[in-house]
Order: sequence, then C-alpha cells, then structure tokens
Amino acid sequence: MVVRDPVCGVPIDPEKAEFKTEIRGRTYYFCSDHCRQIFLERSYIAFFSMEVGIKSEIPTYSGGLGVLAGDTIRSSADLKIPLVAVTLVSRKGYLKQEITEDGDQIEHPDEWDPSEFMDLMPVQVSVRIGGRDVKVQSWLYEHQSMTGGVVSVIFLDTNVEGNSSEDRAITDYLYGGDERYRLKQEIVLGIGGIRMLKALDFNLRKYHMNEGHSSLLTLELMNWNGMNPDKVRDLCIFTTHTPVEAAFDKFSYDLVEELLADEFAIEVLKEQGGRDRLNMTLLALNLSKYINGVTKAHMEFSRKLFPGHHIWAITNGVHSYMWTCKYFRELFDKYIPGWVNEPELLVRVEGIPNDETWDAHLKAKKDLIDFVNEKTGIDMDLETLTIGFARRATAYKRATLIFSDLERLREINKKGRIQLIFAGKAHPKDLLGKSLIKKIYHYKEYLKGEIKIAYLENYNIEMAAKLTSGVDVWLNTPLPPFEASGTSGMKAAHNGVVNFSVLDGWWVEGCIEGVTGWAIGPSPHEQMSEEERRARELKDLYNKLEYIVIPTYYRKRDAWIELMENSIGKVAYYFNSHRMMRRYVTEAYML
Ligand SMILES: *Cc1c(COP(=O)(O)O)cnc(C)c1O
Repeated sequence: MVVRDPVCGVPIDPEKAEFKTEIRGRTYYFCSDHCRQIFLERSYIAFFSMEVGIKSEIPTYSGGLGVLAGDTIRSSADLKIPLVAVTLVSRKGYLKQEITEDGDQIEHPDEWDPSEFMDLMPVQVSVRIGGRDVKVQSWLYEHQSMTGGVVSVIFLDTNVEGNSSEDRAITDYLYGGDERYRLKQEIVLGIGGIRMLKALDFNLRKYHMNEGHSSLLTLELMNWNGMNPDKVRDLCIFTTHTPVEAAFDKFSYDLVEELLADEFAIEVLKEQGGRDRLNMTLLALNLSKYINGVTKAHMEFSRKLFPGHHIWAITNGVHSYMWTCKYFRELFDKYIPGWVNEPELLVRVEGIPNDETWDAHLKAKKDLIDFVNEKTGIDMDLETLTIGFARRATAYKRATLIFSDLERLREINKKGRIQLIFAGKAHPKDLLGKSLIKKIYHYKEYLKGEIKIAYLENYNIEMAAKLTSGVDVWLNTPLPPFEASGTSGMKAAHNGVVNFSVLDGWWVEGCIEGVTGWAIGPSPHEQMSEEERRARELKDLYNKLEYIVIPTYYRKRDAWIELMENSIGKVAYYFNSHRMMRRYVTEAYML
C-alpha cells in the first residue's frame, strides 16, 4: 500500500517510511523531516459551519449551505490547504422525508451512528449554559484526498455521561426545536467548538464563520485577546449567505442573559451584537475583518443591507469531481486529463467529439429515468425532454412557478413533450414550503395522461448528484434577490445539463443568453416595477420553453450539444470550489 505525504503529496511506502508522526490517534508518513516539521508546526484555518454535507450517510445538512461546506472541505483537502472544520454531530439529522399520497410531508428523525464513520476523541471541554456546565465531546472525521491532503472535521457532541438529559439532546436535531434550543446549539458550536480545537491541539491562525450561527466564537476570542475587538477582527472571516434580514438569527437578551451570562458580560456583547436583540449576523460583521457575500449580486445587495461594512464577493463553486457523474468523468479523463485538480482545464471542452458528449449524457439520463420509474412507478422515458427542479421546498424558491398557467403549459407540451422531476424537503415549521409540495402533487394529478410529473422523496446529496446529471434542463425560478448564490445549477453544468434560470445569485454571472443556457426574466440591473418583473419572468419561462428550449432539443441536436459543451467549458470551468478556495486563500486567509 502506498500513502501520500499530506504536506507535499509525494507517494510513500509506509513500511519503509523513515519520517512519521502520530497525532490525534492517526499516523502520518512524510518524505522528509522538513515536511514533518511543517505538518507539526503549521497553523490552521478553523472553518465553522452549523451544517456540513459530506455524504448522504452523514445527514448533518439541510441544503446548499451544508453541501457548500462539504465542497469547501473536499477542495481544501485536494489543494492541501491547512483547514479544520467544526460542526455539530446532529445525531438525529435534519429530517427523513416521507410524502403521503396526498402530498403531505411527514418528518422522521434521520438517526445515524457517528462511530461508524469517525473516531471519538479522548478529550472533553465544557461550556456553561443556563447555569450548568455542559460537557462537550467530539468525533473526528478525516477527509482524505487522492492528492494526499487531509482535512479533519470535528463533530461536536453533548451526548456525554454526566450531562442532564436535556443537555444531552442539544446536538440531536439540525435546525430543530425552539429559539432556546437554537441558542444552546450556537453556544456549543461557537464557544464549545473553539475550546475543542484548542483542546485537540490545533494551532489556529484564522476563524472562518460560514454563516452567522457560529459567531459566538468571537466572544471566546475576545476573552483570549484582552477584550480587544481589533485583535479579534484581525482573526475572523465572515461569509454571509442570505440577503434576507428576517433570516438572520436573533435572540432576545432575556434569553441570552439566562443562557450565556456565566460565559460573557452581556453589556459588552451588546456593543457588538446589537442593542435590542442579539443579532448573530451583526456580531459576525462587527468582529470580522474580511466579510464576503457568495456572488457578486449578493455582495451588492449585502452592501445595501450593511452600510458601513466593506463587503467583498467570492462566488461559490461546487467540487468538480464529486458532482461530475461517472460517464462525464470518463470522458474528461480521456480528453481533458488533469481536470480533477485543475477544473479550469474544462475550458478545453471542444476536444470532446459531440457524439461522445451526447452518449455520456444519455447514459446518465437512463440511470436517472430508471431510478425515477423504480421509485414512483411513473413510466418516464429516455426520449422526452426532461426538466429537473430540486432544492429545499421553501416559498422563495417558487417550485410551482412553471404551473402558473396550466393551459399554456398543456399547449406547450403538445408542441414537444416534456416531463418534470421534482424533489426537496420542507423545514418542519415551514408551512408554506409544505404547501408547495402538496400543490405539485395536485398538478401531477391534474396533468395526468399529458405531462409526466414525479416528486421524489427525501432529497439528499446522492439524489442531487443523480438529478443534476440525469435531466436535460435544470430549472431554477427563485424570487429575486433571495437566492444569494444557488449551487445546484453549477452541478448540472458539470454534467452538460443546461440551465434555464431566473437571473438571481450565481446565474447573473454564469448566464450568456443562448450560449450557456437561458435567462428567465430581466437582469437585476434593469429598473422596473416588481409587478412588471413577475410578468417578464412568466413570459420568458413559457415563451423560451416553447420557442427555444423545445425546438432546439428536438430538432437541432448539434446546437443542443453545443449548449451542453458550453455549460462545461464556460460554466463548470469557473463555478467550482477549487477556484473558490484558491480565492479564499489569497483574499481572506492570507490577510
Ligand atoms: C446542491 C444541493 C443543494 C443546493 O441547491 P440550490 O438549488 O442551490 O438551492 C441543496 N440540497 C442538496 C442535497 C444539494 O446537493
């Protein structure tokens, strides 16, 4: 067996290795004492995220934020960026989704056993929450890259002997419970997380907060740095992921006082986190030197939302290898060798013969259609133009927009057949989100015999990979400006699946009309009333579907393949997490 030096990536035979070290229960092998020293002495970027999506079997994510954290970890390992990630163990996951025949969502716990995937660390830390010491233990998952790079992921866990049963449950449900439960989780993530990293002997240089949930870590940094906010700011990076003020976590100071007063002076906290209520986003903004939005449009919007803070943009990306299906991986390996660690090489897509691109797509499509037919009994077929829409079921994503004018949709379907595949979970408390699922079930019945529609249960990472590689068109219809980025369309592009999307989030940067896909509605920079914007969106959605998408798909196959190849060469080559992480390193981490 050959392993790789985690610092320089040189292959090593462990049997003969002269230089090695044991740390946190693992043995690492090095080519030289030099690499070993670097490994032992280097300081890490601590990346904090409430959710992390590594794989479907570890259900500690709910959507794009967690999957992005997973891609951050994967690309950091590939690029050998010294990064360590911290999250909650969420032993009961987010939720397992069942949908009844009537389209009602039923949620079940998504229990998993961390000991199957990771190692319990022998150290514990404690945080005072509501007048009690809460013990926190951690599980170490090590993500290994083919390049030799490794990223450790620390899963914090309060299910420790000696904790009260209430405290043991703090790390059970991702985004579960009430406000009080959420604040306890955020105390564990921020303060418990930073203490755990110290206890595990990670030498740290920067703290990156992926969304505001972890911003209480700044309080511990204040304590460590003589209550000097300037010093704390120099250490912190904050990435905001939503343009919706209402989505920021806010807590009443009564609750904060009750739970957190033993850890930190509430008066000092108010200076940074807001006078009336503790606003986690504000806390992160006030105590971070580098702040960024996740697309250029989101940056512009955030600048308006947070005057007085300088906000940069690092546009999101997805992990190229992870999100490319096996048929396209083979094709890229053959014609674009090296693409895995240099996804920018995908710009050289012209070298791939058109028939091979089409063939790879048909294979991925067949896998998906077989999967859908098996799961739902709906008899979808390989020839029909297949449109996919899968993401969290929540109001602003507007999953039902395509059903706005059912008669028009039926007429369009007579010109060229379409079939639609949906998936997505609603948060248990998101009644509007749930009603969207129910509505799609209703339309499915209404259009029976004309348009085949499937709603797949329990959307997760594995299903996302199947869907974003197996459909022909990836539909995205959020209400602008609420989609800060969106990433599933980037996964689609890696597989030659063509994007048809509202100009919001990443698509403002990715869309070249008629070249990389199509826009639904006007550019955010065009001035008009909201009413007119809604009308333009519907007009584009139906007109482009009828007069461009369907005719091109059925009658101009070469033009279609050109769109597919442009999705790879002009979208995927840029919207990947290798490019994203290189930018975090040079623009945020080295600061
Ligand atoms: C990529 C991904 C998302 C994000 O999808 P968007 O369309 O960008 O919101 C959500 N959930 C899962 C499981 C994903 O893989």
